[in-house]
Parts: sequence; structure tokens; C-alpha cells
Amino acid sequence: MKLRLTAIIVLTLIMSSCAHKVEPVTVDLSQLEVVTRTDWGWVPAADSIPLLDTHEIEYVTIHHGGEDFPEDKDVIKYLIGLQSWSRSSKNWMDNPYHYMIDLKGNIYEARPIQYPGDTNTSYDPRGHALICVMGNYENQILSETQFEQLARLTAMLANKYNVPQEKIKSHKDYAETQCPGEDIYRYLEDGSFLERVSDLRTP
Ligand SMILES: [Zn+2]
Repeated sequence: MKLRLTAIIVLTLIMSSCAHKVEPVTVDLSQLEVVTRTDWGWVPAADSIPLLDTHEIEYVTIHHGGEDFPEDKDVIKYLIGLQSWSRSSKNWMDNPYHYMIDLKGNIYEARPIQYPGDTNTSYDPRGHALICVMGNYENQILSETQFEQLARLTAMLANKYNVPQEKIKSHKDYAETQCPGEDIYRYLEDGSFLERVSDLRTP
């Protein structure tokens, strides 16, 4: 009986130490690798596209792409396609988000951050730094690498713009939407994401 109880305790400890628990490591956020707009072929806006007024960042807000992203999908084509769709179909100045993260955890610059992003829902994205994880996390699973890269990017932006922890949230916290999807939102709900961001902000 005692042995069984010990086994259950050990098993519980092992299980609770899995699931995105990252060993506390010192990370130099200034060394965070980001694929720049020039690297992926971002196209500057034509003169006919109206530029928005610039804004100051006060929030970091997390999104998902909302469409399933198969592993063999070409990320660069997707970024270029999203930019072109945003302009031609939505009349937005650019890709709606400032940074995007792919399935492998690579980070890409998108809309220049001095301009507010865009949204199909009813919150005002002025003042928000928008991060989008490519894919649909109602259906897909956020990998440990993606979780860690999302946390590092969030921490880097929050430090750079002096965003307090309580202003790091997700789309769902501001508007009627499923975004950023269940498998991202659960880490915001249980506090583990903000905990990791906090650790990264104060190494
Ligand atoms: Zn969203």
C-alpha cells in the first residue's frame, strides 16, 4: 500500500514536471533570432495604401492564424500570400500582425510595429504588439519549442516597451473569438505562460 502511494506520488511529480516546464536557463533576449522582413521578401506598401497613424506599445497580445497549418506548408509563401490578401481583400496596410511564429518556432517580423495591427473583431488594436502563432490551436498542439519561442518573443517585447505582466493577454481576452485557440489559451489560463515570461524578463 505504502509502495503504491509512493509510486503515485512519483508519477504525479513526473507528470507535473512535463508539459512545457522549461528548466530555468538564462536567455539573452537581445540575441533572439528573428527572420527580418528583408529576409522573407516583405513588400513595402504601395503609395495607394493608406498608412495608419503610429502608436506606442502598451500591451502584448497573442493570436493564432486560425487556419490549419500542415507541416509541409511553405511558410514564406504563406507570409507573402497573407500580406497580399491583407492589402487586396481587406484594404489593410499590411499583414495584420507584427510578429509571426511558425510550427518550428521560427519568428518572423511582419507589419512594422510602429503601426497598429488589424483585426476582424471588435477590439481596438492600437497600443498592442500583436504576435500570431501560425496554425489553428483549436485543432493543433503547441509544441514546447513554439511555447518557448512565444515566451521569449513576448518577454523581449514586454521588456523593450515596458509592458507590465498584466497587459500580456490574448485576443480572446478582448473580443468575442476563439483566438488564440484552446491549446495556446490553456497556458494563459493556468498561468504557466506568464510565469515563463516573467522568468525570462528577470534572468
Ligand atoms: Zn486573433
